[in-house]
Amino acid sequence: MTERFDLLVIGGGSGGLAHAQRAAEYGVKAAVIEYGPLGGTCVNVGCVPKKVMWYAAHQAHAFHHVADYGFDVKMGAHDWHGLKVRRDAYIERLNGIYGRNLDNRGVSYIAGRARFVDPHTLDVDGRTYQADRIVIATGGRPTVPQIPGAELGITSDGFFELEDRPQRVLIAGSGYIAVELAGVFNALGSDVQLVVRKESVLRSFDSMLSAELMAAMDRNGIELETGVIPQSVEQTADGIELHAEDGRTFGPVDCLLWAIGRSPNTESLDAAAAGVEQDEDGFIPTDDFQQTNVKNIYALGDVTGRAALTPVAIAAGRRLADRLDGGMEGRHLEYNLIPTVIFSHPTIGTVGLTEKEARAEYGDDVKVYESGFIGMYYALGTNKQRSVMKLITAGKDERVVGCHVIGEGADEMMQGFAVAMRMGATKKDFDDTVAIHPTSSEELVTMR
Ligand code: FAD
Ligand code: NDP
Repeated sequence: MTERFDLLVIGGGSGGLAHAQRAAEYGVKAAVIEYGPLGGTCVNVGCVPKKVMWYAAHQAHAFHHVADYGFDVKMGAHDWHGLKVRRDAYIERLNGIYGRNLDNRGVSYIAGRARFVDPHTLDVDGRTYQADRIVIATGGRPTVPQIPGAELGITSDGFFELEDRPQRVLIAGSGYIAVELAGVFNALGSDVQLVVRKESVLRSFDSMLSAELMAAMDRNGIELETGVIPQSVEQTADGIELHAEDGRTFGPVDCLLWAIGRSPNTESLDAAAAGVEQDEDGFIPTDDFQQTNVKNIYALGDVTGRAALTPVAIAAGRRLADRLDGGMEGRHLEYNLIPTVIFSHPTIGTVGLTEKEARAEYGDDVKVYESGFIGMYYALGTNKQRSVMKLITAGKDERVVGCHVIGEGADEMMQGFAVAMRMGATKKDFDDTVAIHPTSSEELVTMR
């Protein structure tokens, strides 16, 4: 027997849950199909457990400064296993809350793996469901390189399964996950080597941020090797070794972690059965309104290959329901000026164009303001951490088109500045705003 809904959402992660719940609030009969735990990547193997680990690392860093503030305490051993047990229990509580949220809004939860039969029909482990609208929100999974021995390495998913902290760690990759997890391992006591295939980490961000982060990683004892193109991995008696194309060998280590990007969860979806187009990497392209090439099928979140961030998936999901079910004609997510934080040590907060992008778009009409300083937190000791901030403006009125910060508090600093930039704030607006003293963020409104 085929069960019918107004809306079937494939994927109970950030985007899928947000869409189904908002649609249900408008009276839509909706169901979410999910084969894993509710909450998807963010809750189970992403933002949430990652931030817990970042907090642990943050505590470790704080210990380096407590003596400066008069405390006579010594840092003892860190209990990684105990932390994992508490972290897992927290995630389990969240899974329960997500399930109850669905119940409270009358959204049906179908456990299983969905596969398209036709544009209106899904097969879920042998059962059939039909709906007027189907939304693909299947997210992604870590990419593992196709080289001999790659399976000896773990990914970010495996990171969250580690029962104990490996002492010798090699991370391959240069994006968000590579630098965030390198920072965690390093702060909690592992020997960390980071191998990147080009010349720097975070190449898609403003070059100031990557340069400053690499300097900070060096100060913290993370070893960075550039120009490393992985060729094969080998298990030796001493540990895991990574061989690079140029003949260099890295390791032996206890843990090799791949952090080289993510691939879309579309392999078992059989989107072709519904006529849904995919790009060469398997991502599902959409128009500005999250619509695929098939009229009643939409896609949102990581599976679309655009700005793979939780709040982006949520915003796209909610706005789609606002437009289709809530009568808000034209409502959609604009994929520009998306603020983001990299939970490295120190943190990075960034929104808008990089200097390179701004110069490509506005030519000579670009003016850049930059400030580097040691925050007051570090004033009393010798273990000092630099903060650097950069404002990029364009045009005669000096509209702020880029804002980039690395340093203490950057993570909590950027949200408000992103609002100002969305509203079209100019350098004069920044200058006319009274500073909050003593903070690091005041630097952004006092730059000359
Ligand atoms: P997902 O959350 O991945 O959900 C997709 C769901 O679909 C999954 O639960 C999957 O099991 C299910 N699914 C897939 N195929 C099927 C099928 N055929 N049938 C049924 N179910 C299916 N973002 C931030 O904004 N901030 C952060 O700090 C942050 N940290 C991160 C840290 C890590 C280590 C990682 C990996 C990611 C992080 N992200 C972060 C990114 C964020 O997790 C994703 O952008 C977000 O989860 C995407 O949501 P989504 O709904 O598109 O997909
Ligand atoms: P990223 O896309 O951030 O970075 C992966 C990088 O790895 C690439 O940019 C590339 O850099 C390098 N790379 C790609 N292929 C290879 C290869 N074969 N060998 C070696 N290096 C390679 O991916 P992540 O996996 O770090 O994270 C996935 C996404 O999840 C992020 O883009 C982000 O959207 C999201 N995320 C967000 C977080 C947050 O908000 N704080 C935290 C974690 C993840 P290069 O070209 O320079 O070599």
